[in-house]
Amino acid sequence: MPFPVPFVRPHLPDSSVVSSDFEDIVASNWFTNFGPKERQFARAIADYVGFDTQATTFTNATIALLASIQVLLGRGDSTRQVVIPSFTFAAGAEAIVWAGYSPLFIDVDRESLQPSIDDAVRAFRDTPGTIAGILLCNTFGIGNSEISQWEQLATAHGVPLIIDSAAGFGSRYPDNRKLGSRGSAEIFSFHATKPFAIGEGGAVVTRDHALDERLKSFQNFGFAAAGGAIQLGLNGKLQEINAAIGLRQLDVIEAAIASRRQTLRQYREALPSDIIAFPVGIELSSLCFATMMVSTPALRDRLQDRLVAAGVEARTYYSPALHRQPYFSDAARVGTLTATDDVCSRILSVPLHPYMAPEDVQLVIDQLQQGVDHA
Ligand SMILES: *Cc1c(COP(=O)(O)O)cnc(C)c1O
Repeated sequence: MPFPVPFVRPHLPDSSVVSSDFEDIVASNWFTNFGPKERQFARAIADYVGFDTQATTFTNATIALLASIQVLLGRGDSTRQVVIPSFTFAAGAEAIVWAGYSPLFIDVDRESLQPSIDDAVRAFRDTPGTIAGILLCNTFGIGNSEISQWEQLATAHGVPLIIDSAAGFGSRYPDNRKLGSRGSAEIFSFHATKPFAIGEGGAVVTRDHALDERLKSFQNFGFAAAGGAIQLGLNGKLQEINAAIGLRQLDVIEAAIASRRQTLRQYREALPSDIIAFPVGIELSSLCFATMMVSTPALRDRLQDRLVAAGVEARTYYSPALHRQPYFSDAARVGTLTATDDVCSRILSVPLHPYMAPEDVQLVIDQLQQGVDHA
């Protein structure tokens, strides 16, 4: 049964706007393969991020992650590992396996919900020689405040730092730089459920021009510009219509983020910070939803039940963590991932989409306040 207040609500341009773009595409008879809309969109993504970055568009972020791993690390074998937090979305770990590598799970920091750099340091110390790369996740699209330390760690061990910023197009790091210009490359998703949505789509953004060329080749069957495969590739191309939608979305991205931030401020002001805590830096993110840490697991469960009973689709996003999902339950890990389990037992994610009616925002606040009071 659909919830009166759904967890995420795709927000795409009006159909009249999209039909006029589709008329252009039909008139040019150019539907995919680096048409004018895709070329313009790739340029616009890089310009939006800034810092002399390049962007390659992809059919979705999962293929973009696979492309980045394959091109930067080469093809793996199962004895070689890529460090990744267990507290993330499955796509990153699946891309690691598709590229031939094994995931090595690390824990999270309980307050920031970002991957634990101490665990990554430990991983390099305890398993020397087997780690081929790091797949950092900017958790919920929130820019990691330790990004420079992560870059230094990767450099010190001579491995690429690939950053899964899937939910964070438009988010900023604490130094106010937009996500997209750090590490070896950053990956974004433009899936319908993300804050910046075009249907299915994604991109890899990097400052490394040579890497960008190889990604563009990978996404087109590994072909060289002159034709003929020069590397292993696949078909990961973005269609013209999705690129056209992306160009329209770029016109409204800042307004959509501002609206989400306004709702976050309302949640924050209304809720007791000693019982419901928001992750550090969430206010600088583009906010796919509002994630909060509740003081105890029992209260988290009660608040979720209450919201659901009131018609609000509240979730416990990234829970279960990857090491608790059947396919990854035997995967290698650093330590026992106790912080990840703790976070999963207390995390609660509530809707925060633009154009949520004021009474829907109030309903979320009322249910949370009453649930806390009755605890
Ligand atoms: C959404 C998401 C993905 C997958 O993106 P798709 O475009 O749907 O393939 C990968 N990683 C993270 C962290 C995500 O949030």
